Amino acid sequence: MSKLQPARGTRDIYGDEARHMRAVVDAFQRVGLSYGFEELATPIFEFTEVYKRPLGETSDIVSKEMYSFESSAREAGDKEPEELTLRPEFTAGVCRAFISNGMQQNLPCRFMSWGPAFRRERPQKGRYRQFHQINAELLGQDSPEADVDMIAMAWRLLNDLGLGDKVILHLNSLGDQDSRAAYRADLVAYLSNHKADLSEDSLRRLDSNPLRILDSKDEKDRTIVAGAPAMSASMNEASKQFFAAVKAGLDAIGVPYHHDERLVRGMDYYCHTAFEFITTELGAQGTVLAGGRYDGLIEQLGGPPTPGIGWAGGIERLAMLSATGSQPTPPVILMPMGEQATLKAFDIAESLRSAGISVVADRSGNLKKRLNRANKSGAKFAVILGDNELAAGQAAVKNLEAGTQNDVAFDALVRAISGSAGDAS
Ligand code: ATP
Ligand code: MG
Repeated sequence: MSKLQPARGTRDIYGDEARHMRAVVDAFQRVGLSYGFEELATPIFEFTEVYKRPLGETSDIVSKEMYSFESSAREAGDKEPEELTLRPEFTAGVCRAFISNGMQQNLPCRFMSWGPAFRRERPQKGRYRQFHQINAELLGQDSPEADVDMIAMAWRLLNDLGLGDKVILHLNSLGDQDSRAAYRADLVAYLSNHKADLSEDSLRRLDSNPLRILDSKDEKDRTIVAGAPAMSASMNEASKQFFAAVKAGLDAIGVPYHHDERLVRGMDYYCHTAFEFITTELGAQGTVLAGGRYDGLIEQLGGPPTPGIGWAGGIERLAMLSATGSQPTPPVILMPMGEQATLKAFDIAESLRSAGISVVADRSGNLKKRLNRANKSGAKFAVILGDNELAAGQAAVKNLEAGTQNDVAFDALVRAISGSAGDAS
């Protein structure tokens, strides 16, 4: 029989990796709270329309990466089959939730979310079909200062994870709608002269979304793109001022950045600020956190015109890079010897846990075997409970590191174990 494997591009997460990923989410929650963000958990699947329209039919995600399916359960009361899609990213779902729940009364809204996302990509190190993101969105503020706040929050998180020296902030401005349109025209004019050398994908995008060609990974495309007109050249005055204010804010808090004229985001709904935190340590999967402003998105989804800016970080990539999250202290091992002791051990274990001590019971094999296992596990204490100890209202506390053993009264166990660093008497 062949080995039972998880589906391609999906993984079981455990051990160090699980701890490192947990540390990323914990840091995100801490930092999010300090910026006034509240948790918002949206469903893992949405109507396909929620993603299709905002992301754009020609985006990589919509055109080939979404896990979409038709679902009908007449027995459960569905009238019509539904077109559903597993969450490929958070922003569209968060904006949908904002509209569905009538949250426009409470602007500005600051939402933080985390969890799995799904894209049908070619799996590689740092690129999976089920991956995990932390996600932050700020809705209802159209000023450049809001962009600074969002980037500052990302920067703080990255520093808390010890990544300040490992990532570089790439920053660009796409300008407002007018500037974008003007640039689009300039770019199409330029690229049309190089049609013969453009990749097939880029040729297709020349009409539908030429800006995305700037993002092409194709070698020949990149050569052509290198000579393309600069985005800043077609920027109007208002857009220039907006970008200048973002940069001034970043300077004020000392966030270093690199202006990258070719930086565009993969989705249709971005304007003004676009940014990516990139590392050179993860090969082609170097973008650990990315985001930008999307002032038209909520309106496009059918909500009231509401500006927004947000970012998402890849938890796997952040965890790989930071690899923080220490091994938890191994639990105390409780060893009841006999029936009465087994029952009493439940009680003792609960009182230790109430005091914040983690405890597991080892109930099988003779004492020697159990102590061997305990030593291997790295546990610091074994608490042995036999008939004699039980009768005396005591347990034998063995310090496995020091090799010492002492009898301790039941009501002194917590103090003996949590109180003294090594000596249990
Ligand atoms: P990339 O250029 O690496 O494909 P992207 O632009 O598609 O990234 P976003 O949609 O901006 O990525 O998602 C934000 C972050 O989520 C990325 O910067 C990355 O860290 C992470 N991410 C995106 N796709 C994957 C994936 N398939 N596997 C693991 N992490 C991912
Ligand atoms: Mg991608």
